[in-house]
Amino acid sequence: MENHENCIFCKIVAGIIPCQKVYEDDEVFGFKDINPAAPIHFLLIPKRHITTLEADAPLDAQLLGRMMALAPRLAVEQGCRPGREGGFRLSLNNGADGGQEVYHTHLHVMGGPRPWNK
Ligand code: 5GP
Ligand code: ZN
Repeated sequence: MENHENCIFCKIVAGIIPCQKVYEDDEVFGFKDINPAAPIHFLLIPKRHITTLEADAPLDAQLLGRMMALAPRLAVEQGCRPGREGGFRLSLNNGADGGQEVYHTHLHVMGGPRPWNK
């Protein structure tokens, strides 16, 4: 597995930086955001270091789809209300103009009662 020594999220996957883990499988890792923008806010990342959606070795459609498909179950596990009354927001900030700060692609999953911080 490619592991970039200066990447915060690779260090989290490797256990070098502690986190509150919410999910792990062979390819995907999930953990709570350190600065939550909503009552429930966690990140899903590929374990493999992928910088952006247009990187040389990009996130393939199958893995991206799997990350998105995991969100509803994990959101409810983390306390989001299920169904129409509850729900969650997915966002993926890509590149500087997209507001990306950490260059290891990640999917934000945010939910919980409003108002939110952002
Ligand atoms: P971006 O703006 O790149 O989409 O979002 C990066 C997210 O990573 C931010 O919401 C930020 O709070 C979160 N983050 C940055 N560093 C850490 C860290 O060391 N641990 C955790 N758990 N989250 C982090
Ligand atoms: Zn990384």
